[in-house]
Amino acid sequence: MKRIKLHWQILIALVLSIIFGYFFTDHVEYVTWMGDLFLRALQMIIAPLIFSSIVSGVLGLGSAQNLGRMSGKTFGYYLLTSLIAAVIGLLSVNIFRPGVGADLGLTEEGVVLEAGAGTFGQTLMNIIPTNIFQALAQTDMLSIIFFAILFGFFATRVGPKYRDPLDKGFNAVFEVMMRLTMFIIRFAPLGIFGIVSGIVAEQAHDLLSIFSRMGLYMVAVILGLLIHAFVVLPLLMKYLGGINARKHFKAMSVPLLTAFTTSSSSATLPLAMEAVELRAGVSKKVTSFVLPLGATVNMNGTALYECVSVLFIAQAYGIELSLIQQVIVVMTALLASIGAAGIPMAGLVVITIILSVLGLPLEGVGLILAVERILDMFRTSVNVWSDTCGAVIIAKSEGETLLV
Ligand code: ASP
Repeated sequence: MKRIKLHWQILIALVLSIIFGYFFTDHVEYVTWMGDLFLRALQMIIAPLIFSSIVSGVLGLGSAQNLGRMSGKTFGYYLLTSLIAAVIGLLSVNIFRPGVGADLGLTEEGVVLEAGAGTFGQTLMNIIPTNIFQALAQTDMLSIIFFAILFGFFATRVGPKYRDPLDKGFNAVFEVMMRLTMFIIRFAPLGIFGIVSGIVAEQAHDLLSIFSRMGLYMVAVILGLLIHAFVVLPLLMKYLGGINARKHFKAMSVPLLTAFTTSSSSATLPLAMEAVELRAGVSKKVTSFVLPLGATVNMNGTALYECVSVLFIAQAYGIELSLIQQVIVVMTALLASIGAAGIPMAGLVVITIILSVLGLPLEGVGLILAVERILDMFRTSVNVWSDTCGAVIIAKSEGETLLV
């Protein structure tokens, strides 16, 4: 019998988990452990995977000139797409005006949220780890990436006697990690069944009321995300790289479905790397540079979400923001999306930063909590989608022949 393709297996698991979570709300604990196991397995491989992939990738780049060119293009892409996303969010929230006249129970108790992400300056400082082993142990992505790039770069500066074994060794570790990733991916349908059943069961009782109460706000976010994902990014792919967006989308189905269910760019990273390298045909050199960085730095969906949410909160409090203030929202949303970690709900935490920059009430976060889980699924998918689009565009600009 022919095996059903993995993305179909995942889709079937999604549908079954919604039914299961809805009708067997009290029994989900019998399946949620599968989701926990799957997530633990993914988390287990992230640190060694990104470390080995970046070191071997940078070693493969060879010269400082290559490294400079690649990072220039990569950061250019991140900034451009995040900025476009934030502007789409700004337009969307000004068109739908979901918060205007909203009676959303502003007397609700304020939610205390730590602005855990720290200031932007602090985030920059933290990139330099004081202890690389601690950074690895805590999967501190930016620090690991920083150290790995330096390590890879200086590994190219030593004589061949040392460089060659390092090159071989890190390549070998990376290959093993990719095999391990492929093995874990096979369990994605079961893991996803566990995760989604749990989410559905948690929200089952008030799903409808949540939707009706926050409908317009959700529309403003989701429509903006769809436009960015299905209009802006495909256009960029077409004009910057001559890439067929539909084919690329199909090739990315597994990481996208995983991003949707796990709400974590970091957890999705191993799957995204596998798909970009094997299904889109991007070289290891580009994949291992663009994707690990993108998982933490490039968050188009989050930037858009921040913009809509902050302005929604302002509207709900009856605060009119001037054009200048709206530009500040766009810029801080962009910076906040860079600072946010690739984990569930990170975007919600950094919203507090933007609110405080603008002097808006922090309790406003309470307004958007109810639908946070659902919107996180959508924006994380867009975050991952944009990373993979960047990888194929940059690969093309480096003269690679792709499968998409
Ligand atoms: N969950 C998102 C991600 O991992 C970040 C966010 O909360 O916006 O990409």
